[in-house]
Amino acid sequence: MTSSASTAPLVRFAPSPTGYLHIGNARPALFNWLFARRHRGRFLLRYDDTDTARSKPEYAEAIAEDLGWLGIVPDEVVRQSQRLAIYDAAAARLRAAGRLYACYETPGELDRRRKRQLARGLPPIYDRAALKLTPEQKAAFEAEGRKPHWRFLLEAREIAWDDLVRGPSHVDCASLSDPVLVREDGSYLYTLPSVVDDIETGVTHVIRGEDHVTNTAVQAQIFAALGAALPVFGHHNLLTTASGEGLSKRLGHLSLRGLRESGVEPLAVAALAVLVGTSDAVRPVESLDELAGLVELAHVSRAPAKFDEHELEALSARTLHHMPYAVAAGRLAEAGIAGGEAFWLAVRGNLATFAEAKLWWQVVQGPVAPAVADAGFAAKAAALLPQEPFDATSWKSWTQAVAAATGARGKALFMPLRQALTGLDHGPELAALLPLIGREKALRRLAGESA
Ligand code: GLU
Repeated sequence: MTSSASTAPLVRFAPSPTGYLHIGNARPALFNWLFARRHRGRFLLRYDDTDTARSKPEYAEAIAEDLGWLGIVPDEVVRQSQRLAIYDAAAARLRAAGRLYACYETPGELDRRRKRQLARGLPPIYDRAALKLTPEQKAAFEAEGRKPHWRFLLEAREIAWDDLVRGPSHVDCASLSDPVLVREDGSYLYTLPSVVDDIETGVTHVIRGEDHVTNTAVQAQIFAALGAALPVFGHHNLLTTASGEGLSKRLGHLSLRGLRESGVEPLAVAALAVLVGTSDAVRPVESLDELAGLVELAHVSRAPAKFDEHELEALSARTLHHMPYAVAAGRLAEAGIAGGEAFWLAVRGNLATFAEAKLWWQVVQGPVAPAVADAGFAAKAAALLPQEPFDATSWKSWTQAVAAATGARGKALFMPLRQALTGLDHGPELAALLPLIGREKALRRLAGESA
């Protein structure tokens, strides 16, 4: 590998803006983004929006927003709907080279032909009947009002490449139908614009799901027909639910928006999305850069990866438990929490979601309705509370003194103090909370006052 700037990789994520991103289709975004980070490359967001009936600007916006939530900020954004002239030029070149040919079959005719082939035990491959049409026959179709769709003439050869994930790979194009590149109404299917854009924008690495392996063989022939070099390809495994079904059935639930609303940490989503199925998937990371260093495309499993929501929740909590103050600070400020690093370090280990930090801030700030069952015990404890300033050792020396004076030990010692100081019977270490609560509020709460 060289490190010269001219060979810096350019990757792309190319969603169709026809819906919200879910964890499955966020994976190619992440694999590409992390690859770009690791190799000091650039990341292009390309909206594959040539299907004007299904593409919507609001989905495009939502995709950018959801990527931003994950921490992905594209270096450049392109929209295929604005580049049609470039595809027209490429289609014209393919026509001139005899690689793109007009077909007049209706969907019904194609279907009947497929059924006949299957009945005779033949593979349902397009028979290229349209190649044999005479100019007169074509003119007759046109006179009937039929418009052609256009197929790419595949060469019957094997396409081989060294896949970043799957290693040496090959597909025999002799067993494939010539793909339709242009619809009757002149609009483009995904196949050609994708290749043209990959060439025009200088994409060096195409990292996408393994549902595109056959496309890669077809597209490799289009690259060659357009006289362009082939980028490097990598096809990652696909995600299924824990029970092995495809994810699409549960889109709403596992959409990035849905996950965001449920309070899951974006870094945990990112980490699990790319490390699922590996031993690294269980440990939290502190940043996308750290994650970038952990992802080895060659080590991504070839079997489908099973996504388990409980695993995500657990990883999300662990991500918070290890989150450095520097990472949390901005979000704490946004939530109106002014406790600084001491507060964060005191409570992070108790959080299942970031939003819960607010509950603990309320406990620190008050007012808290204390639970004082034994006022005599609480009064003795209050009398022994050391003077400020409090530090990390104040709790220990105080409770030792209370134990000596009252004879209370273990739970009988700690639980009434916790209930008085926080109003709750569980929570972060009191050694860390006490200095944050402070002497004055502690005394009032021990006296049963709301403070
Ligand atoms: N729009 C295509 C998809 O979402 C892009 C595939 C590709 O990366 O080439 O499947």
